[in-house]
Amino acid sequence: MKDTSLSANGEEPPSGHRLQALKAFHSAGRGFWRDVSDADWNDWHWQLKHRVTTPEQLQRLMPTLTPEEFAGAKLANHKLALAITPYFFNLIDPADEHCPIRRQVIPRVEETYTAAWEMSDPCGEDSHSPVPGLVHRYPDRVLFLVTDRCAAYCRYCTRSRLVSNASGYDFHPEFDRQIAYIGQHPEIRDVLLSGGDPLLLSDEKLENLLGRLRAIPHVEFLRIGSRIPTFLPQRITPELCAMLKKFHPLFVSIHSNHPRELTTEVRDAVGRLADAGIPLGNQSVLLKRVNDDATVMTALVQKLLMCRVKPYYLYQCDLIAGSAHLRAGVSKGLEIMEQLRGHTTGYAVPQYVIDAPGGGGKVPINPEYVLCRNAGRVLIRNYEGKVFEYPEAEDGTPLSTPPKEIEEPQLCKC
Ligand SMILES: *Cc1c(COP(=O)(O)O)cnc(C)c1O
Repeated sequence: MKDTSLSANGEEPPSGHRLQALKAFHSAGRGFWRDVSDADWNDWHWQLKHRVTTPEQLQRLMPTLTPEEFAGAKLANHKLALAITPYFFNLIDPADEHCPIRRQVIPRVEETYTAAWEMSDPCGEDSHSPVPGLVHRYPDRVLFLVTDRCAAYCRYCTRSRLVSNASGYDFHPEFDRQIAYIGQHPEIRDVLLSGGDPLLLSDEKLENLLGRLRAIPHVEFLRIGSRIPTFLPQRITPELCAMLKKFHPLFVSIHSNHPRELTTEVRDAVGRLADAGIPLGNQSVLLKRVNDDATVMTALVQKLLMCRVKPYYLYQCDLIAGSAHLRAGVSKGLEIMEQLRGHTTGYAVPQYVIDAPGGGGKVPINPEYVLCRNAGRVLIRNYEGKVFEYPEAEDGTPLSTPPKEIEEPQLCKC
């Protein structure tokens, strides 16, 4: 069906061929690894063992590597390891210097530049950490960092100070102190496992950890934040899903930023999680030349729904050191949110947030739909820019008489 309506600013809403092309599910297949057996390719241990981890390997596989990337790979590796699974590497378009997949995982020399306001711990997590590996910022829930390793490393990682062990962060994989803290704090009803990537733990280790958390009576809700469904869909085995479903209610938040990351392999992997009764959300980071575009974002969120994944958060990129080349502006984020809300399924619209620098937590950022509240009415505008009024008294109580007419509601000044 052709959508011929225009958005508020008179631009054509995302539709048409580009959107449909971005939404098509593909598999990139074996690419550079065409001689590998099916058994090896589909084995997540094989994928991890054969990750691309050196600048030389990158250059050999991709002769179109730019000098900025080669230099970046040499330098940045000290701060945040370079690692890309063969599966994910094949999604890169070697002919496109600005390939949105490439920008997320191949270091660039700009990573070594740090602006004065950039930080190594931009969300102030270390200051809210009662025991190592636990962040207790909000009253009723904790973030539990269970490993410092990921299947591949996002170049804009907000936790690069501790992941990939580039700076010798002290991890305690026995988890005793963290579990004891959760047990001693009855206000903690929600535990979010993150890291690093929790799904890198073996099934046995993860099962043990989830079992210990489930044994704490006040822990009502468990969730796992993981980029493994998109970096390493081979990890989402039927055995893993069968184990996870024993710990319901358990949610999983995946991480994807561009519709091309949602391949047929990823659709099948998250489908297995959904079939295990696990509600799925997605977290995206707004990234320059990756997804700072309304059509790309529309394709991503619509494709996520087709995978049974609810877009949960869209993050403004944290002020992590060396990320300026990947950060898009807040006004761009707001503009994209306006192009989503009302124009597409409400389930497809994530909440845009800034994780407040210094440790304030996630703050929702929204386009303004309330124009003013006074004189017996709330003036609102819809996604098309049309203005409507909702009558109520200034103190919020219902009106007994109709509000007095105002001639030009758009001109109402609060
Ligand atoms: C994001 C986050 C959570 C979870 O927040 P929700 O809004 O409940 O998803 C919890 N703790 C910390 C420290 C976080 O950064």
